[in-house]
Amino acid sequence: MKLRFLYIILFGALSTGFSQNYEAKVDSLMNLMTLQEKIGQTVMYSGHWDQTGPVVGSDNGKYIREGNMGAMLNAMSVKGTRDLQTIAVEESRLGIPLLFGYDVIHGHRTIFPINLGLSASWDLAMVEESSRIAAEEASAEGIHWTFAPMIDVSREPRWGRISEGAGEDVYLNNEMGKAYIHGFQGDDLSQPNTILACAKHYVAYGAAQAGRDYHTTNMGEGELRNVYLPPFKAAVEAGVETFMSAFNELNGVPTSGNKFTLRDILREEWKFDGFVVSDYTSINEMIQHGFAKDSVDAARIGMNAGVDMDMVGHVYRLHLKKLVEEGKVPEAYINEACKRILLAKFKLGLFDDPYRYIDEDREANTAYKPEFLAKAREIAAASSVLLQNNNDVLPLSKNTKKIAFIGPLVKDEADIIGNWAAKGERGGKAVSVFEGVSEYLTSNQILYAKGCEILKDDESGFEDAISVSKQADEIVLVMGEDHHMSGEAASRTDLKIPGIQPKLIQKIREANPNKNITLVLMNGRPLNLSDEIHLVDAILEVWFPGTMGGAATADLLFGKVNPSGKLTVTFPRNVGQVPIYYNMKNTGRPIPESNPKEDYKSNYIDVANTPLFAFGHGLSYTKFEYSDLKLSSDELTFNNTIEASVTISNIGDVDGHEIAQLYIHDKVGSVTRPVKELKGFQKIFLKKGESKTVTFTISVDDLKFYNSEMTYGVETGEFDIAIAPSSDVKFQHVFNLTQ
Ligand code: BGC
Repeated sequence: MKLRFLYIILFGALSTGFSQNYEAKVDSLMNLMTLQEKIGQTVMYSGHWDQTGPVVGSDNGKYIREGNMGAMLNAMSVKGTRDLQTIAVEESRLGIPLLFGYDVIHGHRTIFPINLGLSASWDLAMVEESSRIAAEEASAEGIHWTFAPMIDVSREPRWGRISEGAGEDVYLNNEMGKAYIHGFQGDDLSQPNTILACAKHYVAYGAAQAGRDYHTTNMGEGELRNVYLPPFKAAVEAGVETFMSAFNELNGVPTSGNKFTLRDILREEWKFDGFVVSDYTSINEMIQHGFAKDSVDAARIGMNAGVDMDMVGHVYRLHLKKLVEEGKVPEAYINEACKRILLAKFKLGLFDDPYRYIDEDREANTAYKPEFLAKAREIAAASSVLLQNNNDVLPLSKNTKKIAFIGPLVKDEADIIGNWAAKGERGGKAVSVFEGVSEYLTSNQILYAKGCEILKDDESGFEDAISVSKQADEIVLVMGEDHHMSGEAASRTDLKIPGIQPKLIQKIREANPNKNITLVLMNGRPLNLSDEIHLVDAILEVWFPGTMGGAATADLLFGKVNPSGKLTVTFPRNVGQVPIYYNMKNTGRPIPESNPKEDYKSNYIDVANTPLFAFGHGLSYTKFEYSDLKLSSDELTFNNTIEASVTISNIGDVDGHEIAQLYIHDKVGSVTRPVKELKGFQKIFLKKGESKTVTFTISVDDLKFYNSEMTYGVETGEFDIAIAPSSDVKFQHVFNLTQ
């Protein structure tokens, strides 16, 4: 009935250009809406659910009927979304469909590695594929919108949410963000297998002081513009449909009430025309921040600053109408917010068919398709990083008589999924490392001991673990964090492998002084491995690798797949070095090369300045040699480009992928410039014995930055350049930029 009414208004009057003319349709619809109904579109609530799916909570049902809810997060299952959508379409005055959002972060059912792991693949096509599959699975369950990608640059391993992004680098976050967005949104949002993406958390959330979640961020505008804003700008350029404002304050102003970042930059400078949702009650949190005096004030500040939708906070629904009537919030702001949200619904085709994402057959037949699982296995292997491989102890041989697998994560099927599991099962579908290696070895070859728990101090399992280790020819330890130790509200002050696991490693080494020991690590952040590098021979960082993680880990351990991932975040020597990242600035003091104790250098007296494992580091079972870096010219001008090329040769015994990284250093600037900056990368495949030339094109655009006047541009002068296997590189080539 209601829908029919809408159809007459919208399609009767505008029968031509159906898919094109969304703006006019939204305007026609808005002409019918009361102020409170428009406000209703700016309100999102959370679904409630039990084991059978969502329960239409009485309040939710009431809000939907009243036209006081535009979107819902965490509604589960097609049945639940159908029930809720039916209320919206059939029982509200105008029958406007709801938008259903969900945290589809690194997969929906088929879970891929955590995002920090995905970024370590440096493989944009794979990242896009992972989010395409996630969109397939999520949309098949009625979901229209994901709160992803997180594109917060972070140089803070203490911050648990570093696991959700692409690490410390600006360029990499730009590129990864675009890949996720395209994977989720596709080319045509009206297709029912594409979903809206959301660039979050806007902004500087990853720079929380001391890595404590939700904590203060303070920085100059130069750093904000050069480091933390670019991935968000790139997301706008990539057509992201929504943004999420963050929890943190930035220079004293909470980012969910920050007119400068939300209106001046996002809307005025970047011309973003999608809608902005708050983070979960982040508008209300402005009261606790000491920025709003009560919830009325918070609603006023949030809307006036440019947050279009209130996630769960109740403040827009309750207070905006009065605030408009009192002249404290311009009605135009409500109209703009409502219009943007309705436009998104039109783009998704929800006014064409509000049930188009609600399809029981698709729901039953999409999750965990074999091809999705195969991709997840391939991507998990590509995301793992071989940190150390002394004496080439890896790969393992399938013919080894006995291999001991020891540690609390060998048989784990829950932590392996990582944080933000969406609807991925922990257990059941997930393949443990134990199951993975069982594809390669007979049960006679496998010895197992759990040894200890991740977080308990109980050493009673040590004896068995040590005895098992002694019976084996090779030892593989599978250890790390539990999945609650990273993600939201999971900051740590200590970066060691948690609990008594390090002690167990030491005991096993003492009992087996001459045996090869490999440490497989699952964790959501850089760890301090300063002791472990001496205790074990090989370290394979698999992060939390997802549903097929155990199978992928086995593929790497036995050399079916050659490791190719590289770190997108620096691993420090200890927590006292933090923040430590590859593109820091120079000080006025010479860099201490060899003697850290030398006086008056900018160094620590107890530990070297260098990281344990540098950004970009990652080993392979083969060896790559870089030679013959050439520049097509050593003069770059504002109007031409130059090419930098290098020959990369696979001089080892097996085929493999290599990730070649382009670094540039702007030697002198009107504001000081980082010691090096990633400006490009290419992942190439080389058969053993094969050589290829890798070429990067460089233009002035690659050299631009914000100066002290906040002007974005380039400055002429000399630049160092290198193409290298990691950020641990010394520059030997230079080019000049002239006008
Ligand atoms: C998180 C967001 C997430 C939202 C919705 C918040 O607590 O910070 O990243 O999208 O919850 O679940």
